[in-house]
Amino acid sequence: MHSVSTPANSPDDSKAPLSLWHATARNRRSRPAFAGDLDADLAIIGGGFSGLSAALHAAEKGLSVVVLEAEIIAYGATGRNAGFVVPNFAKMDPDNIITALGAKHGERLVRMAAGSGDLVFDLIRRHNIDCDARQSGWIQPAHSAAAFDKVKSRARQWAARGRPAVVLDKGAVRDATGADGYFGGWMDKSGGVLNPVAYANGLATAAEAVGTRIFEHSPVRSIERLADGWRLATEHGHVRAGKVFVATNAYGGKLNSELARTYFPLKVFQIATEPLPASIRERLLPGGQCVSDTRRNLFTFRFDAENRLITGGMHIVGIGADRRVPRTIHRRLAVHLGITDIPPLAYSWSGMAAVAPDFLPHLVDLGPGLIAGFACNGRGIAMTTTMGKVLAEWATGAAATDLPIPFSPPAEIPFHALMRHAPNVLLPWSILQDKMDERGRR
Ligand SMILES: Cc1cc2nc3c(=O)[nH]c(=O)nc-3n(C[C@H](O)[C@H](O)[C@H](O)COP(=O)(O)OP(=O)(O)OC[C@H]3O[C@@H](n4cnc5c(N)ncnc54)[C@H](O)[C@@H]3O)c2cc1C
Repeated sequence: MHSVSTPANSPDDSKAPLSLWHATARNRRSRPAFAGDLDADLAIIGGGFSGLSAALHAAEKGLSVVVLEAEIIAYGATGRNAGFVVPNFAKMDPDNIITALGAKHGERLVRMAAGSGDLVFDLIRRHNIDCDARQSGWIQPAHSAAAFDKVKSRARQWAARGRPAVVLDKGAVRDATGADGYFGGWMDKSGGVLNPVAYANGLATAAEAVGTRIFEHSPVRSIERLADGWRLATEHGHVRAGKVFVATNAYGGKLNSELARTYFPLKVFQIATEPLPASIRERLLPGGQCVSDTRRNLFTFRFDAENRLITGGMHIVGIGADRRVPRTIHRRLAVHLGITDIPPLAYSWSGMAAVAPDFLPHLVDLGPGLIAGFACNGRGIAMTTTMGKVLAEWATGAAATDLPIPFSPPAEIPFHALMRHAPNVLLPWSILQDKMDERGRR
């Protein structure tokens, strides 16, 4: 089994791949490290989906763009996720968002999310990106009667906005997923699956084709304000730019400690089995969708292009988690899908997600022309790709306050040093609540 778990923002010195996706992407190639002095209209720190999508869209608008990546393209969450393209929000539905943000800002954000799956697959088609992409849909099965009521309302709200959202009854969920015991569910047909490392490398190549300069192994050490922009210092040179997008997500380390206190850094594990034999494969996900259910302790699964079964999970206690959690989620996969003879683990890896307290994407105002964005929350592929497009509008002159993503100064989470552990500490409580739901007590 290939097993890799590297701490945030530290170079990986083992020979094992960073993830299944790094091992299997066919279009990966290396880029030079930065040295010297460069001027650009837009400098981007971080070579994940956020930075690369912003680079592509800004360069297409005619800006000169430089991307500085500390490690390699897709080193962060971009190269370690599950490859689910999910065009909606993790917790809130359109009506809640409009209540929370007001009609004008709420509708803008909902509209942006609604088109986010299509944007990903359109880019893949337009730039001919070889990333095993399938716009096969995303399914959310309901683990309780109450959760089924909730997802029916969710599907109605997205369908009312013209989205291809359909409610699935119990039998339809079983037929589509092969999983028993769900009360029903819904599907957004504009979601789907891809190999995220291959998608990121495809975005990078497309951005380079319109003039973007991308550098790997080039960590930005400091950001200094100038009279007419910003100066980024790397070990071997400087980039001066009128505008800077900080796209470091949960991998930013000490670059901006204020920013690091605005989100929960959440370690998430992923595993992939050896390819499934045809006898089991044909019962599960015949349509090739991806699945994330309604449990608080989320259960997810999909296949990759070689029929490896992929799932994920979190840990309660960090000590020994790198060895323990992959085995636990492998067992859970077998139990939930009724596979008595599950193939062994082929890959296990982990990554850091930056989760906002309200589970929505955010743009953070770090100074005139200096902006950070994070939009993870399990929806990062669709949402960060769209965020990149939105940031290209900002880079070419749109006011940040007119963008569809909430924009504000850094909103520090109170007692962050303690609170950052909250998602792990609360996991046993979430598991208990799920069990109570399943036994019909709630
Ligand atoms: C395990 C896991 C599973 C997930 N599953 C899904 C999923 O199935 N679907 C989905 O939509 N979303 C998923 N997500 C979320 C999604 O992966 C993220 O939202 C998305 O990848 C974030 O992209 P990003 O470009 O903002 O950040 P990242 O991909 O984290 O990139 C940040 C980059 O910044 C670089 N960097 C940091 N500091 C510096 C510096 N000083 N100088 C230069 N570069 C720097 C890092 O090296 C890194 O490459 C998952 C996340 C995790 C962790």
